[in-house]
Amino acid sequence: MRVTVSGGVHGNELLGIYLVKLLQREEPHFENIALEFLLANPKAIAQCRRYIDRDLNRSFSKEALESDAAIYEYERAKVLAKRLEQCDFLIDLHTTTANMGITVVLSSDDALSANIAKILALEYENVRILRWLSNDEGAFINSVVPHSITIEVGPVCQGVLDANLFFATKKVLLRALDILNKEERCDEKVECYDIVDARDFPRIDGEIAGMIHPELLGRDYELLHPGDPIFIEFDGKEHFFEEESCYPVFINEAAYYEKGAAFYLTKKSTL
Ligand SMILES: [Zn+2]
Repeated sequence: MRVTVSGGVHGNELLGIYLVKLLQREEPHFENIALEFLLANPKAIAQCRRYIDRDLNRSFSKEALESDAAIYEYERAKVLAKRLEQCDFLIDLHTTTANMGITVVLSSDDALSANIAKILALEYENVRILRWLSNDEGAFINSVVPHSITIEVGPVCQGVLDANLFFATKKVLLRALDILNKEERCDEKVECYDIVDARDFPRIDGEIAGMIHPELLGRDYELLHPGDPIFIEFDGKEHFFEEESCYPVFINEAAYYEKGAAFYLTKKSTL
């Protein structure tokens, strides 16, 4: 099986970049895996920016891959799509500024990908599974490979490393490769979270008019009830949650301010 581990799809998410560089030096060996490493967005990595022109992880739609626009990430996506043609399984490393621990994101309904996520979630207390099946902004890098998991780790600021998260992620990543190498199977039902919607900040004429409420901040994967405070405006006016209970994730994710998402709503399910 040909497996690629990618970091630096977002150039300011340092954990994945330095983990890929470390493993390129350490060259871990798995007898049944041809392992490759990828630093996905070199220009953005060099400048420690999320991207140069567009979000690379929204640049793999059919339209983007066929576009001849002078957009660095569109050009890069074509190169990566070609390079990943032979790849069976992609493990894509990201960080989040939200308090999400180690989240294994599944972006397609694929049994092999789900199998790995389930084993990791059963073995590690800080690993959760998040299914993000509808992505209407334009496709993730995962869309050009048959099987994949995305590992989102946080909380950590953009452009910053966190040693505890780094070593915890390395352990989970090596175990994921070990599972693929041994073709381990999991037949148990495992808890997961399905993204169902997003909620934007309060805005006036497009400009942000409030912040995540202090009582919500850092409470990713904790049940949010109707009546709980979610936003607070700059003059102190509070906004309360008015929908049925759900589990919020990506709360106050820095990269999503521009996407119009203050947090995402999920429902708990089993996989
Ligand atoms: Zn990212």
